[in-house]
Amino acid sequence: MNVKNMKLKEIANKIAKQRIIELINNAENLPEYENYYIDLIMKLKSTHKIKLEWPIRMKFCKHCRHLHKNSRIRIKNKKISIICNKCSKKTEFFKKSNKLLNGVSEI
Ligand SMILES: [Zn+2]
Repeated sequence: MNVKNMKLKEIANKIAKQRIIELINNAENLPEYENYYIDLIMKLKSTHKIKLEWPIRMKFCKHCRHLHKNSRIRIKNKKISIICNKCSKKTEFFKKSNKLLNGVSEI
């Protein structure tokens, strides 16, 4: 692969990441279309092979593609589990630093 192409890829990834943040904000503002926006995020993620950071991943359920609202959050030693309110499926995050635990209160 050329160096030129590599740079283009990096630029495309940056734009995609910004777009994902915009889409999350849109989903929060327009709850009627949250399913549609989260679908778009998953598509962007797979085409650009982006690994989402945990503050974004925690905001929605990857099974039913709805935002977490009043979902149950449980914290054990090194594991944070969120049980979805709509489909009652569980997603788990493993704690790597204290940063992750501090972020839970912000949701
Ligand atoms: Zn769900």
